[in-house]
Amino acid sequence: MGAILLANAAIGTIQERKAEKVVDKLNQFQPPVCKAIRQGQHVELNAVELVPGDIVSLEAGDRVPADIRLINSWNMRANESTLTGESLPVEKNESSLPEDCALSERTNMLFMGTDVCGGKGIGIVVQTGMSTEMGHLMSLLKQQEKEVTPLQEKVTSISKKFVKGALIVGGIVFAIGMLRGIPFPQMISTSITLAASAIPEGLPVTITIALSAGIFRMAKKNALIRKLSSLETLGRTTVICTDKTGTLTKNEMTVKALSTADRAWTVTGDGYEPTGALEELAPEAAAAAAGLKNVGSYENPSAHPDLTRLLQICLLCNNSKLEQQEGQWMTKGDPTEGALLTLAAKNGLWLNDMTHWHRGHEIPFDSKTAKMSVVCKDVQAERECYLFSKGAVETILRHCNRYQKNGEILPLSEEQKQHIIQQNEKFSAAALRVLAFAYRPLDESIDNESIDDERELIYVGMTGMMDPPKPEVEQNIQEAFALGLKPVMITGDHPITAIAIAKQLGIYSDARSVVTGHELDRLSDEELSQIVDQVSIFARVTPEHKLRIVTALQKGGQIVAMTGDGVNDTPAIKQANVGIAMGRTGTEVTKETADMVLTEDHFGTILEGVKEGRTIIGNIRKALGCLLTGNLAEIIVTSVAVMVGLPIPLVPIQILLMNLLTDALPAMVLAVNPGQKTKQQKRTDFIDKDLYQKVITRGVLLGLGSLGLFAASLAVGTPMPIAQSVAFATLVAGQLIQTFSWRQEGSEETVRDWTKDRFLIGALCVSWLALLGALYIPPLAGFFHTASLPLKYWIPILGVAGSVSLLSKPILALISKKQAISALPANQTYAAA
Ligand code: ATP
Repeated sequence: MGAILLANAAIGTIQERKAEKVVDKLNQFQPPVCKAIRQGQHVELNAVELVPGDIVSLEAGDRVPADIRLINSWNMRANESTLTGESLPVEKNESSLPEDCALSERTNMLFMGTDVCGGKGIGIVVQTGMSTEMGHLMSLLKQQEKEVTPLQEKVTSISKKFVKGALIVGGIVFAIGMLRGIPFPQMISTSITLAASAIPEGLPVTITIALSAGIFRMAKKNALIRKLSSLETLGRTTVICTDKTGTLTKNEMTVKALSTADRAWTVTGDGYEPTGALEELAPEAAAAAAGLKNVGSYENPSAHPDLTRLLQICLLCNNSKLEQQEGQWMTKGDPTEGALLTLAAKNGLWLNDMTHWHRGHEIPFDSKTAKMSVVCKDVQAERECYLFSKGAVETILRHCNRYQKNGEILPLSEEQKQHIIQQNEKFSAAALRVLAFAYRPLDESIDNESIDDERELIYVGMTGMMDPPKPEVEQNIQEAFALGLKPVMITGDHPITAIAIAKQLGIYSDARSVVTGHELDRLSDEELSQIVDQVSIFARVTPEHKLRIVTALQKGGQIVAMTGDGVNDTPAIKQANVGIAMGRTGTEVTKETADMVLTEDHFGTILEGVKEGRTIIGNIRKALGCLLTGNLAEIIVTSVAVMVGLPIPLVPIQILLMNLLTDALPAMVLAVNPGQKTKQQKRTDFIDKDLYQKVITRGVLLGLGSLGLFAASLAVGTPMPIAQSVAFATLVAGQLIQTFSWRQEGSEETVRDWTKDRFLIGALCVSWLALLGALYIPPLAGFFHTASLPLKYWIPILGVAGSVSLLSKPILALISKKQAISALPANQTYAAA
């Protein structure tokens, strides 16, 4: 017996190790990548390919891939808490330092495994792998703590319950057996076997198998699950907080409209292809703030000074590239900036035309500030120097005190400000993402590194870019609602743009459901918790707000899945019940924090995860039901027999055979069932009152049926080994037949569906062969203490085994009717009865 239990435990451990290996393998699919410069070319390298001497460029959100000496930097900050324990970000720059510096004071170094949390920089790799400071630290760390997941907690609690129950039942049976005068050795082995049979030792293996199978299926659907239990949590998710750009929309920006102080244009063409033209709107339409109704071009736009300046800022205040690959135009870098390059190109302006401009100090884009600026100097003729800025309209306007109109610089009056704000709202209402452009001439002699604030800017104009929703997302949103999930859009964009997109997707219901970042700042945590359930759009929010939103939702009892890509999203991703990182746009830090990484950034994949999670919960539930019913039936057969004075119907080795093969195998097959693809599964828990009722009803019917046949066989003078074999065969056959009922649970599968399931058929065949082998192959029959059953015994055996599920249905229906009546208020109970 001990050997069989050990074998069972060993199978469990092996399966768990295998599953861990699977997860490790899946995680290996996303090694940190970094941007390096080799032979003058920008290349993307896997961190493991780096060698000392490589030049690497890093920006906010990147995980440092090696120990790197900075050679140039702009506002660079790094979070070195993993290495030094310092929780605040440290400033980094290229300045030289004294030789014997403490690790935390080496500000010109970036260390492997730390995160760049602001600015950008270029550096030279000095150490890699285990030779780095982090490698040294890792070699000192021998053990890694494992955190207990909610799923593990639940399984542990169920197992504990059953172990306690098994010990009590075993104890009672032992005591009664002793009182009845059954020999001590027989009672001790029977009670121990009984206790062992009640422990669902196959449960951890079954759950691990169910989750691993789900992880494999999700990998095929473009999602890598990094934690085994996350799929189960995803199945219980109630709210999906999702970014707009890239997840709901295509993240393919095209500028569709632009305006300056007194004029407006529409832009033709789609995507990043620089074919299309600017067509000016009639003055009255422009004055009405870009009504977008085209009346035809009437002036060469490139001659317009405001437009020329705007396009100049588009090109210079930009870190992206426009490239043609295999005949297709695409952007390398931020799609928003790519769209601006295409806009300039449509008007005949390319980055190559700007070689006389020297780009200096940059204040990088940050979704918190929603703007970016760069100092640029014209090294040709005039030697002019400017600060060029672009960003969200409200932000840029806040830094402007003048505006440009037809080349003339005028003070920015309140009236003009309102006019610009109205233009912004008009663009936003057409679902356009709006960016404003401004500049300020600088004194060439000032050290441009010292410029860290954009003030007294001159407003030039704005662009509105279209980022169309992904075609299938509208349907996905409807499906999310049908699954009982609430999608919440979280975006850095303007609320009007967010509403316009949300309307197209079916997320928006009414004005109350929109909250902006400013409003969030004014709400206390308690106030936010009170309203958060009604909100379906959070606009103009920063990543820091996301953490508050998740926490507020969780306080209200919601189970939250949250998407993110930037480094600042990490706290919210960590806090969410399921953190989801974007595989394409996500930073390494975000991916490493997340529970799930989407290789294709798509909302539909999250829904697939939810459905998969629910299928897994359903599978675990079915497998658990199947396992527990068998165990309960075995307990009933032995314990009732001992209590009512019958001989012991089952020999310990038979109980163990059932636990190892005929119970465990069907349960495992139930655990890996991929589920029905068409059906929208409801949210269920994997163990609840309903399941217990089914287990008890079926277990009692099967146990009593088997015991009844055993008693009847003895009553008609059947020899003991045959009567015991009848009880054994009834239990096994009953367990195998009811596997179908468990599989049918909560699904609408037909007989044809399960006949196609080769695993199910295979497992059932193996189990039946094991039963027949144990009965009819003499050496096995000797080992399992069974006897060959004459054919006539199979009629009652199959009759009892087959009727368990049939009989359980009316009994369960009666129980639920009674429960429904008792749940009614007292005055309605009589009428209902
Ligand atoms: P989400 O992805 O969460 O839906 P988002 O990515 O659109 O939101 P952000 O990228 O934080 O939000 O952008 C917020 C605002 O910042 C935009 O509406 C735009 O006005 C401005 N913005 C976006 N990208 C840039 C950029 N590269 N330079 C300057 N300003 C930008």
